[in-house]
Amino acid sequence: MEKYPNGIQSGEVAITGGGNLKCQNVFHTSLLKWSERNSKQVHKSFIQKSLSEMDSRGLTSMAIPGLTTGYLRFPKRAAAKSKCIYIQEYLENHTDTSITDIRFVIHSSDQRTLNAFIAEVKRWRSFINQFVQCRDVFTTQIGNTNVKVKIDKMQDQDVDVIVNSVNSQLKLDKGSLSHTLVSVGGNSLQTECTNKYPNGVQVGQVAVTSGGNLKCKQVYHSCIGDFKNQDKFESKKSIQEMVKTCLETAHTNSMTSIAFPCLGTRYRHYPAKLSAEAMFDGIRDFTANNVSSSVSSVIIVVYGSNCEKIAKAFEAEGNSNASGGQSVVKGTKEFCSKMYQTELYPPKSWTHYSSLKSVKQWKSSKPEDGKYFKLIEIQSTDNVYQAIESLVQDTWESGKVGHGRDAAGLGGHTKLVVKKIERLENIDLWESYGHLRSQLFHKASDIDIFDPLENLPNSKGPIKTSENIQSVLENEIYPEVNEVYLFHGTKVDNFNAVMSKGLDFRMAGDKAMFGTGTYMAESSTKADQYTDPRNNRSTDEKKMILARVCLGKICLLQKAMSNLKKPPCSSCQQVACEHGSGHACDSVVGDGGWIFREFIVYNQFQAYPEYVITYIRQ
Ligand SMILES: [Zn+2]
Repeated sequence: MEKYPNGIQSGEVAITGGGNLKCQNVFHTSLLKWSERNSKQVHKSFIQKSLSEMDSRGLTSMAIPGLTTGYLRFPKRAAAKSKCIYIQEYLENHTDTSITDIRFVIHSSDQRTLNAFIAEVKRWRSFINQFVQCRDVFTTQIGNTNVKVKIDKMQDQDVDVIVNSVNSQLKLDKGSLSHTLVSVGGNSLQTECTNKYPNGVQVGQVAVTSGGNLKCKQVYHSCIGDFKNQDKFESKKSIQEMVKTCLETAHTNSMTSIAFPCLGTRYRHYPAKLSAEAMFDGIRDFTANNVSSSVSSVIIVVYGSNCEKIAKAFEAEGNSNASGGQSVVKGTKEFCSKMYQTELYPPKSWTHYSSLKSVKQWKSSKPEDGKYFKLIEIQSTDNVYQAIESLVQDTWESGKVGHGRDAAGLGGHTKLVVKKIERLENIDLWESYGHLRSQLFHKASDIDIFDPLENLPNSKGPIKTSENIQSVLENEIYPEVNEVYLFHGTKVDNFNAVMSKGLDFRMAGDKAMFGTGTYMAESSTKADQYTDPRNNRSTDEKKMILARVCLGKICLLQKAMSNLKKPPCSSCQQVACEHGSGHACDSVVGDGGWIFREFIVYNQFQAYPEYVITYIRQ
């Protein structure tokens, strides 16, 4: 009462807390009698204002009484119909609404009003179904398996296996997909579940039954847990594993085609993007390990109220890892053009600034500590850790230790022992790097895919870090723009500056063979030379960086050019010439008669210091 001392106008909404009720808020209104002028407009205004108030508060569910059908004397059918229409109009115009659940609560003694509402809701439901446009959204090829995303009805799929989503008690009357499959497939689905799995299933398990009257041979009733926001990666993994389990079961049973729903997106509250990532990762894992699988066709079926939005998320995920099919093929100018237009996300392996949000979304809210970067320690059991440690060992050249001017003071050790690996998740630096990479994608789409180093005249062959890289690191780098991982040795004192500001060579000052830039190495032996001063070597822990670098168009130089401040022209190898910007190189590789090759970029943001490797010499 204190909030509204003068009461409210008809059709206005007064909002209070829920008091001892189970709800968060109570919306109060005052409506007009059917016979009064404007009674319908007032009714409409109240419904739409209520929905809009819910959205502005992020509320999801509402219980609404019959309203108007009592002493306001609205005709019952008209009251029910107009409510449905007002709600429908609102939802159609607010596709990003937070509302997922609207309940009409009618007293069971008022049979006529109840019937009117039941009839309207039924009509409404058939109206919605009728307007779901079944269509193929996206097709791609993963390994030997054709993967298709489509908007359609699960129960209509003409495949060997339909994947259902169930609770662990295997009660198929719960959940709309189960319910629909049983209503088409028949009660044998439930009977078989109960007989074969009297104790239900655990989360992560699958119950296998025949297809009953469905077109499929088998139904896999899959049980996954709720999405946990505080443990996104565990949540994601549960879907990924479920997809693998279903595919493996299908393979074991010699099934050739399988249809999945978008796992977790309806009742388990998974964000569509996460479900999409997890499902595609699961399919990739399976196809990588089962090259000659019986499963040649996987269909992901999108249905229900948010289907366009969900389909979009699955299409984007499928595209981002497309290797063929109807989608844009990697390694082409079209692919580069697409990458140029794609919004920047953090890499999928990042855990603090995860790839669930775009860089812009991350940066639109200020972090609690005011810093846009975090150093995340990687567990030694993690396959990223193992891949990086292997890269250190596989590019190590013990025969070259202590050779050359920059190796002065070294020679007493034969190997490096990795002690710790951390990942720098610096969203600011990543944005700058991503921006530069995006420009290189544009250049590649405009002119041509850049030649890899081994294709350039006089090259001594592929980059060692690229030759030895494992797929867990390789998955997210783009050879189209010559994106590679390279080592960079830096002294421990410089370390904090690198973490916050990146590899800022402008601070280094000393000139070297190819001028002023960031120097990187394909061998851990070379990077190791720069992690402590030449005149003061020690046995302390050292740090080297494994940086992600976009080499773009490479200028291969066989002779030193110590005055360089940018890469020279590719056509004439001059710094100042008449050739257009298309001839400009983006990086220099010193590939002459030296002990090691040198890799140099002249833009501070062309290298991103992604991994920090702490090690000792032995
Ligand atoms: Zn030129």
